[in-house]
Amino acid sequence: MKQIAIIGAGPAGIMAALQAVKSTAEVHLFESNPKIGKKLLVTGSGRCNITNMQAKLDAYDTDEPDVLASVLAGLSPQAFRALLAEMGIFTTATDDGWVYPFSFAAGNVVDLLLAQLHRVGVKIHYAARVQAIRFTNGQFILTHDKHDAPHIFDLVCVASGGKAMPDLGSDGKLFAQLAVLGHQILAVQPALAPILFADKTLRSLDGVRLDVEASIWQSSTCLGMDVGNVIFTQWGMNGPAVMNLSHLLPEPVEPSMHLQINFLAGYEEQARAYFAAQQDSQASISVLLGGFLNQKITAALCKKSGIPIDEPLSRVETTRQKKLLSLLTAYRVQPTGTRGFKYAQLSSGGVPLGEVQKGSLESKLQPGLFLAGEVLNVVGPCGGFNLHWAFASGYATGQAMAAHVFRE
Ligand SMILES: Cc1cc2nc3c(=O)[nH]c(=O)nc-3n(C[C@H](O)[C@H](O)[C@H](O)COP(=O)(O)OP(=O)(O)OC[C@H]3O[C@@H](n4cnc5c(N)ncnc54)[C@H](O)[C@@H]3O)c2cc1C
Repeated sequence: MKQIAIIGAGPAGIMAALQAVKSTAEVHLFESNPKIGKKLLVTGSGRCNITNMQAKLDAYDTDEPDVLASVLAGLSPQAFRALLAEMGIFTTATDDGWVYPFSFAAGNVVDLLLAQLHRVGVKIHYAARVQAIRFTNGQFILTHDKHDAPHIFDLVCVASGGKAMPDLGSDGKLFAQLAVLGHQILAVQPALAPILFADKTLRSLDGVRLDVEASIWQSSTCLGMDVGNVIFTQWGMNGPAVMNLSHLLPEPVEPSMHLQINFLAGYEEQARAYFAAQQDSQASISVLLGGFLNQKITAALCKKSGIPIDEPLSRVETTRQKKLLSLLTAYRVQPTGTRGFKYAQLSSGGVPLGEVQKGSLESKLQPGLFLAGEVLNVVGPCGGFNLHWAFASGYATGQAMAAHVFRE
């Protein structure tokens, strides 16, 4: 009987195991934690934002879009939800396409996935950290912590994740093994992470939460832009709109880069027209801006523009008004980096998608070796896109491994 090893019982490895076991092979799932899906448990603040109805190619960043497209075509969000329903995991979508289990409980999702793994006969090895993967005489030899599990396999899938939140299990140590097997490892960096900067004006906004347009620039080139919720803190900014851009910041951040914030995103034209019509007003700018923005923001930006908060608009000359408008629509700060892996929801980099086959995600460098999930260089935004990638890539590799067994 053919032996398949899957390394990592996160969403990618679990799905790979559930598909691979449809062949005649014996499927072994190795997990370094004493339980499966430890990271899955904390997703969506414990509510598990499991996919997104817009999980399409243009939502992601990667080095090889064709390979990504082949995986997304193999398991659309609709097909994934149907597959989940077959396992008793029923889902619901918000108006903007974020999909959650009906229970809004990640723990229930993990329990149901575990029940399914047991039902189909996947052999799970808990607290079984794989340390080394070697290929000799047409077979893979794994070195791991578990004495009662086999060491020799015909096919191996590495689904050990990246480096984000290492306390949950994925610490990136297997990248070195993949390098030994011939793979290039792109710099692994925090993604979906809060962004750090030191800016006295913005520090006074500590605790303010609102929707803004955020963008990362290198000199005059915009590298990425996002509109959504952010939270200002003492050390910088958190929230989806900046987290979605954090992978664009190299370590260390280049001096020519800046983060730009438009506080009036979505209603800039309306605000401009309103102020143009209010030029004779005896009310202060801060009162008038109160129709659009939180008081802390107007106070901080008026001060930076040299406008006392009680000065009537009619007395504020054009130069200071222009300065205020430019701060409101294009506030620039110099990021010093991200808050690091400890606070990142994802890591970018890892094995390039260009080094795996379209459709199957089998290594182009080591036949019989498959890769799935965050170990590969794919970054999606917040909203269920990364779990979709993890499950869809697990689905692709699992099916490909099953087909491999049937072929032989
Ligand atoms: C706080 C937080 C919230 C998130 N929320 C969302 C969300 O709501 N929606 C969304 O789409 N994405 C979310 N994500 C991202 C999502 O969790 C990841 O994209 C996804 O878990 C990646 O799946 P994976 O299977 O590739 O890796 P992982 O989930 O990291 O699983 C890898 C597994 O491999 C195991 N492992 C590692 N090394 C070894 C080894 N040597 N031997 C054996 N086992 C090993 C690890 O213990 C781990 O269980 C969130 C992430 C975090 C941290």
